[in-house]
Amino acid sequence: MRWQGQRIDDTDAQALPGMENRTGFLRTVTTPDFAGMTFHEVLAKSALNHVPGPSKMPFSWTVNPYRGCSHACSYCFARGTHTYLDLDAGRDFDSQIVVKVNVVETLEKELRHGSWRHETVALGTNTDPYQRAEGRYRLMPGIIRALAESGTPFSVLTKGTLIRRDIPLLVDAAAQVPVDVQLSIAMFDETLREAIEHGAPSTQARLDTVRALSDAGFRVGVFLMPILPHLTDSVNAIDGALRRIREAGADHVIYGALHLRAGVKPWFLQWLSEHRPDLLSSYRALYPGAAAEAPKDYRQWLGRRVKPLIRMHGLEALHSDDRPARARRTAPERVVRTPEPSAMLF
Ligand code: SF4
Repeated sequence: MRWQGQRIDDTDAQALPGMENRTGFLRTVTTPDFAGMTFHEVLAKSALNHVPGPSKMPFSWTVNPYRGCSHACSYCFARGTHTYLDLDAGRDFDSQIVVKVNVVETLEKELRHGSWRHETVALGTNTDPYQRAEGRYRLMPGIIRALAESGTPFSVLTKGTLIRRDIPLLVDAAAQVPVDVQLSIAMFDETLREAIEHGAPSTQARLDTVRALSDAGFRVGVFLMPILPHLTDSVNAIDGALRRIREAGADHVIYGALHLRAGVKPWFLQWLSEHRPDLLSSYRALYPGAAAEAPKDYRQWLGRRVKPLIRMHGLEALHSDDRPARARRTAPERVVRTPEPSAMLF
């Protein structure tokens, strides 16, 4: 365990590389309760991150209490950000988690600032706020309270069933400000889910969470993303997924094909070579060189396949590219009335 200076104005020479000027490094923690994981506790100078514009995102601000994510999805677009800390985008991203332990106090201070315009804040757009670390640090209750009490609308996107702990808080918050809740569920074959998202809760546990949130009065969105070419894009796979999503009580579905940004592509292709080497050449053809998106033809083909199925199941369909324009919400509602997908693409 290492202790460092706690003044956040200091440049911390022993902080994680890349964090010297932004954080005060406190200590590194390992504990038997979280075997295989290391938490790097830091004091962040800011909690609200502005989304650089112009952006297609339906929000201008994000809060990310953690960097790295123990859900360990092989396709995670955020992996590349870990290299800014001189940690690798693979195993380190899954197990070396930076924790902004003062995020609540910092956020409260920023929300009190006279210039704050109460624009929508998105939680879960970079890494998952209900990953395992949240069980130890319990940062989300303070974040939810701070946003609600300041009159700031917000959205939460997660794979974490731990969100169920905070349902009463979310219900209270939704009485004060608009609150969107979305679960990310894209793998409906448990063997594939275990292989590709081995640190995340099971598919059924996430569907049960949709049910719990729906029963609490939320119109829950499900991110059916990423849809994986040749793995989860068959009619049977999509139809079966949508049936279970509908049965769980979801309101709408945001779908999209796999993105493979530069920081994640090597890790995903490595995963593919270990688990489905027969598909490697197909993926290299679909995502050649620096291409992050599947070809337009494939995406259009996927839309023609997915949209009618979503409607057939009585759900509203949104594509990840069809996000609504940013808009400040001013009229608080008891529950969300307008689906508003957030930025996290997977
Ligand atoms: S895709 Fe989301 S849940 Fe999965 S590792 Fe990345 S941030 Fe975590």
